Amino acid sequence: MNKTTNMFLQRAAAGVAALSPYNPGKPLEELEREYGVTNAIKLASNENPLGPSPKALAVLGQHLAGIARYPDDSGFKLKALLADKHAVRSNQVILGSGSSNVLELVVRTFCEPGDEVVYSEHAFAMYPIITRAVGANGVAVPSRDWGHDLDAMARAVSARCKVVFIANPNNPTGTWVEAPALRRFMDAVPDNVLVVMDEAYFEFADFSAGQSIDYPDTSKWLGDYPNLIVTRTFSKAYGLAGLRVGYGICHSQVTDLLNRVRAPFNVNSLGLAAATAALGDPDHIGKTQQVNHDGMRQLAAGMRHMGLTTIPSLANFLCVHLPDTAMTTYDQLLRTGVIVRPRPSAGMEQFLRISVGTAEENGRFLLALQRILGT
Ligand SMILES: *Cc1c(COP(=O)(O)O)cnc(C)c1O
Repeated sequence: MNKTTNMFLQRAAAGVAALSPYNPGKPLEELEREYGVTNAIKLASNENPLGPSPKALAVLGQHLAGIARYPDDSGFKLKALLADKHAVRSNQVILGSGSSNVLELVVRTFCEPGDEVVYSEHAFAMYPIITRAVGANGVAVPSRDWGHDLDAMARAVSARCKVVFIANPNNPTGTWVEAPALRRFMDAVPDNVLVVMDEAYFEFADFSAGQSIDYPDTSKWLGDYPNLIVTRTFSKAYGLAGLRVGYGICHSQVTDLLNRVRAPFNVNSLGLAAATAALGDPDHIGKTQQVNHDGMRQLAAGMRHMGLTTIPSLANFLCVHLPDTAMTTYDQLLRTGVIVRPRPSAGMEQFLRISVGTAEENGRFLLALQRILGT
């Protein structure tokens, strides 16, 4: 059913009627079904090309027989480990069905129609969706060099603003903000405005930033800013995207409110078990970080050789600027069995976003792109 024939459209909440659904990366099975290609590779959803930790895989079997029971709604073990990892108390941790669930909880808990949510242009596509779904107004602040313009964002925080989203690094651009600018921002924003630091790609940025980039671990800033909410996920570096586990850490008075809105059992029992086990495998994260770091250099260098420019990225993906609209190239890549992400956001029609894969996958993408562009 399309919009013009949907007879329930007028009954939908005002914010919902104007929404378009989130556009996820194309699943491998769908490509193989539609295009008849085999051996396709997916570099489209920023997933871990090494897969999950073997330790996470091993515990899944042990928990399969238990799925007739509801999961532990308190997430006791996982929260205890996360609290320990971040030196906070368990009641400062909120678990979500993916961190996007936590982002959504924040908006549903605090925002009403007429309230404002501030985020950057070219930021995570879920921010406007979850904002408008509750009838709040999204304020998309023009980006600077494809990244967050924190000074402009601070100026955009009005008396109606309840929540600010900052993705660090940002998706789809891979851009980042550094500690001094972020401190300035936090100090400028009223302390009753919730600032969500979306750190879905923290592990990659933390590793690749090195000494020369002052990439902040804002989980260490919670003591300074009671209005700060830091979100992380098991979907990216931890390789558990299919199990949907993410979390937020913040003031316990904030988790208290989020928990009033949270659906019971929002994290499933297999997800809880796998995430708990994955935290006990730092070697897998280390390997993942190294593969990503090397793959990023491989991709950036390969595209530079083709005369293409990429946006510098601290995440596990990067955006490349093509000579023409990216849709054609995207489609030609699909036919060779390579899935990337077109149109990362409005105004970026000439960009493709490529997730870093294994060395072999990156090589396959580069070769396919070179053949298509004839460079
Ligand atoms: C992938 C992503 C998330 C979270 O994904 P979940 O699978 O829901 O944890 C959050 N923010 C950004 C910017 C992302 O790219």
